[in-house]
Amino acid sequence: MAASTADVVAAICHAKVRDLPVGVHSTGHGYAGSSTGGMLINTSNMQSLSVDTSTGSARAGAGVRWESVIAQAAPHGLAPLNGSSPDLGVIGYTLGGGMGPMGRTFGFAADHVNAIEIVTNDGSLQHVTADSEPELFWALCGGKCAVGIVTNIDFNLMPVPEVYGGPSSFPRRMPPPCFTRMATGCVRCPNPPRHPLP
Ligand SMILES: Cc1cc2nc3c(=O)[nH]c(=O)nc-3n(C[C@H](O)[C@H](O)[C@H](O)COP(=O)(O)OP(=O)(O)OC[C@H]3O[C@@H](n4cnc5c(N)ncnc54)[C@H](O)[C@@H]3O)c2cc1C
Repeated sequence: MAASTADVVAAICHAKVRDLPVGVHSTGHGYAGSSTGGMLINTSNMQSLSVDTSTGSARAGAGVRWESVIAQAAPHGLAPLNGSSPDLGVIGYTLGGGMGPMGRTFGFAADHVNAIEIVTNDGSLQHVTADSEPELFWALCGGKCAVGIVTNIDFNLMPVPEVYGGPSSFPRRMPPPCFTRMATGCVRCPNPPRHPLP
């Protein structure tokens, strides 16, 4: 269990000296594969989170889930580009690209990353931006991460003051009339929905 960036550096250096393969997870939602003979670093205790309302951005540690970001950002009319479940880890989700319910309007979560703090496989700590390390930055933004463990991520929030949503389910024989009704209702909304899902 890592509690800080220093813990991650120490764990990676320990694994390097012993030639151990390293895995990482925070929520365990992703398939981690077999860790037999290796080291699995759990970042769920790395809960540092700050929201900057003046720039509309946030910085999240490696254990932060989207639900925490939503809770801090929403009172300011801001929202992150989280996925369909608020229970996912900010970093694991974003490193895979991150296509969520508001993606049709704002794009992938990875499109809105400003900076990434990473401990690379040689144990060195790097602050990576599109200007400082363009190749590594763009590889991380959507390419998952085979080169180290991300300890913090800085990203933009979107101006979304209000969200109306939820699941709809229908009896099997009813879809056509339901869809017509839904489409008609959407047109009548005072603020037409901008992020409808199929
Ligand atoms: C219920 C559910 C809903 C989902 N909805 C969406 C969705 O709407 N859109 C979408 O794009 N995806 C979605 N996903 C997929 C999700 O983005 C991936 O499963 C993602 O990997 C989960 O990340 P995690 O950190 O929560 O999981 P974890 O199991 O903690 O991590 C998964 C993997 O992410 C990488 N990783 C995690 N933390 C780090 C780190 N600090 N440094 C480097 N690598 C790290 C590792 O490769 C790790 O094996 C969904 C998944 C679930 C289970």
